[in-house]
Amino acid sequence: MPLSASTCAGWTALSNIYTPDGKFVKDVTLKSCPNLLIFDHTIVRAAPPKTLASGMADAVAKWYESSLTSSTSQDGFVQQTVQMARVLRDQLFLNGYKAYIDPLSNSWETVAEGCALTAGIIGGLGGARCRTAAAHPIHNGLTQLEYTNKPLHGELVGFGLLIQLHLEEKNSKNQLPKQAKSQLIDFFSQLNLPISIESICLKNATSDELYKACKFACNDDSDIHQLPFPIKAKDIFEAIQNLQSFPTSSKIKTNKT
Ligand SMILES: [Zn+2]
Repeated sequence: MPLSASTCAGWTALSNIYTPDGKFVKDVTLKSCPNLLIFDHTIVRAAPPKTLASGMADAVAKWYESSLTSSTSQDGFVQQTVQMARVLRDQLFLNGYKAYIDPLSNSWETVAEGCALTAGIIGGLGGARCRTAAAHPIHNGLTQLEYTNKPLHGELVGFGLLIQLHLEEKNSKNQLPKQAKSQLIDFFSQLNLPISIESICLKNATSDELYKACKFACNDDSDIHQLPFPIKAKDIFEAIQNLQSFPTSSKIKTNKT
């Protein structure tokens, strides 16, 4: 029974293993999804809005990661799963802000169920054939650092996604990653999600420590090597520096109309 819609962990056949202080260790693939999941709106609605925002960043990443790594897949299930991730992204764009400010709205139901349930189904159907790209490995690396206020999973995944799009932009002539990055920065800002290294509450991380986190993201067995171009720690490090030019505070709106 999930207590928030902050991830799809409640309904996916994958467990992330962390140290007691929140550093990512490894993924463990499970034999199946849970047999039963009780998604009680009353309980999930009572969770802080930041958990829903985090769930949205995590869920929206499914499209940008899976479409990048699985675009050439001939597997029908994978193709269907990637398209499901795209529809989920569009629903989050349409309903996300409304859901964030009004937990009693229809948008909230669409978004909360999308983040906690649909995202889990996508992971369940696509499995290892529908892999993550850079957003999650960068999250894994960033969890190795010390924080004054530990960010939620989706908050770091969302930041990792901006880095991924920056890397894609740099490594191709395609303009779409640049447009997607700009669209996501607006979306994340509305939801008060981090969009720069300064806004993820790092505890005095030195450049060396940050570089080590980038190296962790590039471990030999990391999914980051599913990217369609070679990637090294210094590429991620430079991308993080480049994202520093974005505003560090959110542009969150407070009126509910
Ligand atoms: Zn995730």
